[in-house]
Amino acid sequence: MDRIAREMMTHDFADAAWQERHAITRVDQLRAWMGVAAGDDLMRDIELGLARAPMAMRITPYVLNLIDWSNFLQDPIRKQFIPVGSEILPSHPLRRMDSLHERESSPVDGLVHRYQDKVLLLATDRCPVYCRFCTRSYGVGLDTQSVSKKRSPAFQSRWDTILAYLRATPVIVDVVVSGGDCFRLKPSRILTIGMGLLSIPSIRRVRFATKGLAVLPMKVTSDHEWTDALAEVSDAGRNRGVEVSFHTHFNHPREITAYTIAAAELLFKAGIRMRNQSVLMAGVNDDPEVMQQLVKTLSDLHIQPYYVYTCDLIDGIEHLRCSVRLACQIEKAVRGITAGYNTPLFVVDTPGGGGKRDVHSFEHYDSQTGIAVYQAPSVRPKQLFTYPDPLHSLAPDVQVAWSDPQHAKRMLTDAVEAGRANSTGFE
Ligand SMILES: *Cc1c(COP(=O)(O)O)cnc(C)c1O
Ligand code: SF4
Repeated sequence: MDRIAREMMTHDFADAAWQERHAITRVDQLRAWMGVAAGDDLMRDIELGLARAPMAMRITPYVLNLIDWSNFLQDPIRKQFIPVGSEILPSHPLRRMDSLHERESSPVDGLVHRYQDKVLLLATDRCPVYCRFCTRSYGVGLDTQSVSKKRSPAFQSRWDTILAYLRATPVIVDVVVSGGDCFRLKPSRILTIGMGLLSIPSIRRVRFATKGLAVLPMKVTSDHEWTDALAEVSDAGRNRGVEVSFHTHFNHPREITAYTIAAAELLFKAGIRMRNQSVLMAGVNDDPEVMQQLVKTLSDLHIQPYYVYTCDLIDGIEHLRCSVRLACQIEKAVRGITAGYNTPLFVVDTPGGGGKRDVHSFEHYDSQTGIAVYQAPSVRPKQLFTYPDPLHSLAPDVQVAWSDPQHAKRMLTDAVEAGRANSTGFE
């Protein structure tokens, strides 16, 4: 038995600190974990995948344990966290590093202010695991062979500036604490951020967004100091009439285990409102039955399914993206199976910074060229935004057309014109 497998037997798997200490970040550690499943060809393929990936690798033993190693390539958990070179398709010509243009909408370091009354606070650039499809691959995680990340300055100097901005901008009533992931924030920092936000009278809602419940649920049940800090902020908020909620990120029903149930029960009993945001991914959850099961299981845990996002247009994930047509089909299959308030809205976070739009609300959609055109009247009223379907969902001749910049430009111009003709407010 190798060293890691031995430790697995002797250490407490239910201890979050143990999970963090044993998170794997290198291929040789992965090889040790996989044991007989680790063929030389496969390991080379993973190395190739990592060399091309914009995200570093970090996976907790808990998540590794959810992977079906006998079905490694098809496994929906594996696809989210371990890249394989041979499955990576050429990126769409419209992909961008910071696809949502977050850095353009950043008035002070660590804050994205795109919508009128709500902001995104990037509290850390670290996560308990790194997802292949992270929209913030420009800044989250360690440098990779293909991306050197934009680092944020030290917390305290950023924090004072952020608080000053929020205080001076009372139109902002809603703050999403994200990153990175608040599971990587120390309890003292949860308190600093939470209480700091609650000290601003104009703020009515605070959300802590985390992948943690899906990849390290034992933190909630074993790191009492951390969970107490979250509960303390939530209670303080409630006493002041401010809602403090917890936004999770589950993508597949198999991510919900006895550990998840215990953690969700604890948070529910502590009175913390929970919602879930998923990303729709090919071969992970692009199946009506999988999505229905995810929605129902989360609802039973009192985690309200809130959003299902189509993948953002970033590098190295073309094989994971789904078409707008498929997203609409899956939405139709999900709506009606349970309470309406537990039915997620399927959204496209429009490239270029138009914000999130209901996937069905396009002004124009041509499933031949795969271009959907959206309006965002509350964010950028004069502009139209396009979201392209993945090339693999298009006919071969259209894929060829996309690779020719002139032809691609014409397809886009035609789509935007058709969108403009259908939309209102452009007279
Ligand atoms: C998603 C997001 C928010 C929060 O939006 P909701 O639709 O209310 O969840 C706020 N700011 C930015 C920049 C976002 O991307
Ligand atoms: S947990 Fe969230 S922020 Fe972190 S890598 Fe995954 S998607 Fe990105």
